[in-house]
Amino acid sequence: MTNNNPFLNAQKQLKKAIDILDKKQYTDKVEVISNVKRLLEISIPVKMDNWEIKVFTGFRSQHNDARWPFKGGIRFHQDVTRDEVKALSVWMSVKCSVVDIPLWGWKGWIIVDPKTLSITELERLSRWYVRELYKYIGPEIDVPAPDVNTTPQIMSWMMDEYSKLVWIYSPGSFTWKPLTSWGSKWRGRATAQGWVYVLQKYLDFVWDKLTWKTFIVQWAWNAGLTFAEILVWLWAKLIWISDSKWWIYNENWLDLSEIVSLKNNKKSVVDYKDAEKVTNEKILEMSCDILVPAALENQIVTENAPNIKSKLILELANWPITPEADNILFGKNIAVIPDILANAGWVMVSYFEQVQNNTNFYWDEQEVDTKLKTKIQKAAVDVFEKAKEHKVDLRTWAYVISTKRILDSMNDRYENI
Ligand code: GLU
Repeated sequence: MTNNNPFLNAQKQLKKAIDILDKKQYTDKVEVISNVKRLLEISIPVKMDNWEIKVFTGFRSQHNDARWPFKGGIRFHQDVTRDEVKALSVWMSVKCSVVDIPLWGWKGWIIVDPKTLSITELERLSRWYVRELYKYIGPEIDVPAPDVNTTPQIMSWMMDEYSKLVWIYSPGSFTWKPLTSWGSKWRGRATAQGWVYVLQKYLDFVWDKLTWKTFIVQWAWNAGLTFAEILVWLWAKLIWISDSKWWIYNENWLDLSEIVSLKNNKKSVVDYKDAEKVTNEKILEMSCDILVPAALENQIVTENAPNIKSKLILELANWPITPEADNILFGKNIAVIPDILANAGWVMVSYFEQVQNNTNFYWDEQEVDTKLKTKIQKAAVDVFEKAKEHKVDLRTWAYVISTKRILDSMNDRYENI
């Protein structure tokens, strides 16, 4: 039976890693990191364009404060559960920790479908979120970034609001801002580039290469499409791709420039000419070299994991594979490059942005890219080598590295809770 509660899954993954560590060293701190430090729920009153007041609900979950500041995205979405917010904040801690950046996990959320708001309502909502929370955020406390349905523009409004409230210009209070609000160069490319650097490092590690590898991308819009473009440019062959509804297939390869132009014209992949078209989710079970789930969580579960045929899975989405399915894939010798490692390019460049803001000295694209590549590939090799040595899956070892860093920080900072 598939368990879809993300917080229980996060706790399960932490436990699996902690069981490998020497628990005696960490005593009751183990219990602490399996829970979140703080979950705030706030009411955000917004004057709508028709002068009525509407009250929105917002959340903010801080996982662990062993090493401040907190870091993580703010999501605007109508569907949310407290457990999901909590799980996402744990996941941010683990992600920052596995690539060894000095930030800790939090997650923010407002229950809203932003498509139903005018631009002025959206701005007021964003600013009010900051007004309700500004005592808990700031460059040395808690540094938000965008997530689902939030944008650099929203970060710019929020940073402006925060700076006015504390009466200090504070560009380092939010990241992923536009360049005009002191965002980082190379930001637009960072997430996709991070995925590619981790994938390339894995192929080097197993003495393989990307040329002519076939790959399948589930839902490659935005960064996922940039990722596919880079792979094609490196001579990999895209054979299946989907948007939110349709899958298209061409056994030779799909022409990505045509797909990009469909996207730019707000069309669906179903308008692609020379391809087979289906709506069938069984595509994840097709043969290929690299399978790239980039859409939703819980796509590979106990039921379909035994049928997966690809040799390697690169997770671009959050939690596309359940812990139960992970065990099945490991038994079938299918390597899974986990989301917490593959997705870390985003938060890494956020961190670089914050460093630039705090020092008021700005780097060029080349410098950001070089630092990203060096740091993310070093973290990747640490995971690959140790997982092989200890004969465990890559996700488990990524969690081992992360939880050890978190627990060691806690041990260094206090004896008793
Ligand atoms: N949404 C981003 C993530 O989940 C936020 C990272 C950041 O804080 O920069 O990776």
